[in-house]
Amino acid sequence: MNTAAFIHGVRDVRIGSFEPELSREHKTLVDVAAVGICGSDIHYYKDGGIGAATISQPFVPGHEFSAYLSTDIEPLGLKRGQLVAIDPALPCHQCEWCVKGHHNLCPSVIFQGAPPYHGALTQQIAVPLQCIVPLPHNMTPLQGAMLEPLGVCVHAIDLAKPTLFDSVAVLGCGPIGLGIIQLLSLSGCQQIIGIDPQLHRVQLASDLGATAVGQTIDSALEQTDGQGCHLVIEATNSPRGFSDAIDASRIGGRVVLVGIPDGNEYATICAADARRRGLSLKFSRRMGNVYARAVELVHSGKVDVGALVSHQCTLEDTPEAFAMQADEAVGFVKSVVYPAGQVPKG
Ligand SMILES: [Zn+2]
Ligand SMILES: [Zn+2]
Repeated sequence: MNTAAFIHGVRDVRIGSFEPELSREHKTLVDVAAVGICGSDIHYYKDGGIGAATISQPFVPGHEFSAYLSTDIEPLGLKRGQLVAIDPALPCHQCEWCVKGHHNLCPSVIFQGAPPYHGALTQQIAVPLQCIVPLPHNMTPLQGAMLEPLGVCVHAIDLAKPTLFDSVAVLGCGPIGLGIIQLLSLSGCQQIIGIDPQLHRVQLASDLGATAVGQTIDSALEQTDGQGCHLVIEATNSPRGFSDAIDASRIGGRVVLVGIPDGNEYATICAADARRRGLSLKFSRRMGNVYARAVELVHSGKVDVGALVSHQCTLEDTPEAFAMQADEAVGFVKSVVYPAGQVPKG
């Protein structure tokens, strides 16, 4: 029997049976190898939804995943058993935004793991052929699953356009902030200041390329003689993330908001603080055309996605993994679930 982890409601994850369904778009069944639990999955778990996307029926989350093909896929030259990554997004390719190349903004996207479309916390799932991303031979299921969150980081960097000798603050050193820090250190920024209230996360930020770290945004000011940063990338789950990003930025600076705030609301922001600085602001949603670069970044060893994963478990242990992530347990960064059962050691 195929089983899956369902979110039934707030703080209620249960394992139940799940029948994967082939459809016009979802043409082939794959065996899920590894699934990352994302901060956005935790919003469904903590709040029962994200904005208008609410859970009305038990829902299988999971949009960061790798899988083994269960049949040969001749048009792609792929063989049964091959490890692939799956892009969870199937945009319509017809709307105004798709035509302009902004597939991540498609209002008609079919996104596996966002209600009403079930996701990958299961053993078998049907996926569209277009969403299959072949991987180099020596990549692992974990690395394949982490291409999706790394893609979110690459997209944020595409929007942020860091330039040589910028000072940059990264607010939030969760998996996305830590991925962004690794990309910034490839891009010639002068200062990369990682900020997170949790000590184990800022320690990881130093290991992965931050030039300075701190537990409050005061560090962004201290490190820049009170001037603030040229660029601030916000990747927190805090309603204060937006206003903190303004406070950490320099006059004429840029702010990119990547995080999803708890409760779907930003705390009040001071208009004058943002306006007088003349800030440029961008909201980042999911990702553009990033998979090829994400594969290359991992395969070349330029980005260590394994460092972002603190816990690995089986599907049966998913309820505990959700609870641990929601409670921001000490030492926790991210979990990866192995639905087939074999959790790699280490
Ligand atoms: Zn995600
Ligand atoms: Zn579209």
